[in-house]
Amino acid sequence: MSEVEPVVVVHGGAWAIPEKLWSESLDGVKTAARCGYKVLKDGGSATDAAEAAVISLEDCPAFDAGTGSVLTFDEQVEMDAIIMEGTTMKAGAVGAIRNVKNPVKVARLVMEKTPHVLLVGEGANKFAIEHGIEEVDPDTLITPYAKEKLAKFKQYNKTVYSLFNKFDPVEGDGHDTVGCAVVDGSGRTACATSTGGITAKMPGRVGDSPIVGAGGYADDIVGAVSTTGHGEAIIRSCLARHIAANMSAGKGALTATEESLAYMEARINGFGGAIAVSCKGDVATNFSTPRMPWAYVKEGKLHYGIHPGQHEVEDY
Ligand code: ASP
Repeated sequence: MSEVEPVVVVHGGAWAIPEKLWSESLDGVKTAARCGYKVLKDGGSATDAAEAAVISLEDCPAFDAGTGSVLTFDEQVEMDAIIMEGTTMKAGAVGAIRNVKNPVKVARLVMEKTPHVLLVGEGANKFAIEHGIEEVDPDTLITPYAKEKLAKFKQYNKTVYSLFNKFDPVEGDGHDTVGCAVVDGSGRTACATSTGGITAKMPGRVGDSPIVGAGGYADDIVGAVSTTGHGEAIIRSCLARHIAANMSAGKGALTATEESLAYMEARINGFGGAIAVSCKGDVATNFSTPRMPWAYVKEGKLHYGIHPGQHEVEDY
């Protein structure tokens, strides 16, 4: 395989993020991008780097994943996660899993230890315990903020409208999904995505994040993608695969993400965001929502932003 400039790119969810969360969200994505890149520099694989970056984001309560996950209508935390590696295109995922700190770790175990791609609900929890994942008290995953939000948005439809709609956003007290896409120095790719979903979702609702081709996609021949936004729209438009198909057709990562997000909006009025890195190291972060915190490390520099058009750079 040819030499490629390695890239680790992460996002912290696309939605109408209120000002009080801007700095915490930016710190969270910057830390996660650095963390994933360090794993690569220390000799880890693209999959190791994607997992480490997403664990860092799951552990940050500013995001809707792991600790800080939003609540279902009946006040529970149910989380979805995926990990996919682009060399063999193996993937592992969990849906509606409860009581674990890091769903992405369970997703990786599904990928590596089972003949399946997706385990959900009680089966996913049972599998996690059998593979040494500690069960945590659900209250440790619930922040006061998640409770406030559920009280405010007791209607899923209202939540979806206000968190994602770019034309008339209500700056909701929501917080969001996390993800990572990686290409290593040999052109090997991986992605991971993790979420608590959307406030006031129905118990048992599984969103786009654990679905291959919707919440994430990795193929060494093309690149890696992680998405965020209105899950039902992302599933229906196969957003991650749509972006990969655009890249595969020769479009750059930026054009590919822009066109796929525009397609989702035009066809089904869906809003969201995506990060993508090609197998050659071409990277893009893009969103059709009011904001999305993102960060990536490439060529010794850390790039980051949260507002449309914002792109800051500092030394890694
Ligand atoms: N896509 C996630 C879901 O619908 C939420 C998000 O990305 O904000 O579960």
